[in-house]
Amino acid sequence: MTYQNFSLNQLQDIDAAHHLHPFTDHKDLRGAGSRMITRADGPFIYDSEGKQILDGMAGLWCVNVGYGRHELAEAAYEQMKELPYYNSFFRCTTPTPVLLSKKLAEVAPAHINQVFYGSSGSEANDTALRLVRHYWALEGKPEKNIIISRHNAYHGSTVAGTSLGGMSAMQSQLGGAVPNIVHVMMPYAFELAEPGESDHDFGIRAAKAIEDAILEAGPENVAAFIGEPIMGAGGVKIPPASYWPEVQRICRKYDVLLMLDEVITGYGRTGAWFAAQSMGIEPDTITTAKALTSGYQPLSALLVGDRIASALVEKGGEFFHGYTYSGHPVACAVALANLEIIEKEGLIERVRDETGPYFNKALKERIEGHPIVGEVRSFGLMGAIEIVKDKESRARFPDEGTAAVAVRDHAIANGMMLRATGDTMILSPPLIWTRETIDLAIERIAKALDLAERDLR
Ligand code: PLP
Repeated sequence: MTYQNFSLNQLQDIDAAHHLHPFTDHKDLRGAGSRMITRADGPFIYDSEGKQILDGMAGLWCVNVGYGRHELAEAAYEQMKELPYYNSFFRCTTPTPVLLSKKLAEVAPAHINQVFYGSSGSEANDTALRLVRHYWALEGKPEKNIIISRHNAYHGSTVAGTSLGGMSAMQSQLGGAVPNIVHVMMPYAFELAEPGESDHDFGIRAAKAIEDAILEAGPENVAAFIGEPIMGAGGVKIPPASYWPEVQRICRKYDVLLMLDEVITGYGRTGAWFAAQSMGIEPDTITTAKALTSGYQPLSALLVGDRIASALVEKGGEFFHGYTYSGHPVACAVALANLEIIEKEGLIERVRDETGPYFNKALKERIEGHPIVGEVRSFGLMGAIEIVKDKESRARFPDEGTAAVAVRDHAIANGMMLRATGDTMILSPPLIWTRETIDLAIERIAKALDLAERDLR
């Protein structure tokens, strides 16, 4: 059965009748009908009507090497022919997760040498939560099990991911979170800095909120702090430079493990393999997924530091945790081929030295001055545009989210895919973008801002 035998309307009707979408208001979807993306190539996606759209979100923060990579299809095909599946339970394994683990140990920070696989970022964070609590139990401190996270964090959509995350709308539908997770303020200077407070001081204050939470719970009860180096889904919130060194200092002072969630920032987005390296952070675990395969296969890898990994080996005893698809041979083959492309094409260096700085300059010079833009910011190839009604006071338009959705809708109509979260536009393009692609994106975004302003004023 091929979809070409169906009209767009037929596909939309079937979609509405049978397909429940993630993060979607289904009443709303029935009215509007879904946008059908049918193919993609390089930096572009195409819908069923043949409309070409520049993908400013790399799918969902994942297609770092761009679309149409036949090497990845071939890697999957070859592996499927040879061995489509076997598990990694019960002292078995297959060659591709073994080789991928070696590769990941090479590119990860020096003290990280072990990997635990899943199929999604949410699963990897579930593993991370279980693992840090298991670690403290092995160390004879099972009461050290509180995890500190942040408001508006996104750590996935399973029960553990939602509990770790700080999205109030998600938590309100949870009906009971995983216990012993507490949330503190996020390092979001644009809205939370006091008038006159420097970026540096704000970063220290936001880190101090973690110390306060540790002291309130008692350090002997706190297992770990978890954070995205740059909060992604929450609005590409880039912390001040003072934040992470202070968080690291606090975690060390109270012997609290540091868990980084690099599901978005991993594999080149910040101009290094991991943001931990861009920002000089030494975490105990790094959660990764998405760009590990550039989204061509579902795969996550929890990178586990030597401290935790040695305890597993030295203390022994089974860690009662794993997924059928942990270390899936096909997904791992695709990941190996994907990492090879990233290296061979020098995509990370390109983001660090060329496209990242150019993207930042373009946003600052050609977008920040727009009358409905309050701030632009970027790190590597990850950026945000704050939509405001009034530049001076930073007052927002009424009805949170409406203005950003207007910008997004005009952008898509104008051939530019970007995402709206709250009153913030977010961008996370494939790392193959060139200066020319950035110019095209900026031109389309500027036009969308003009059209949205016309509607909103
Ligand atoms: N952690 C972060 C920082 C994410 O951005 C996401 C997804 O966007 C996840 C975890 C969850 O990943 P997945 O959707 O693959 O479960």
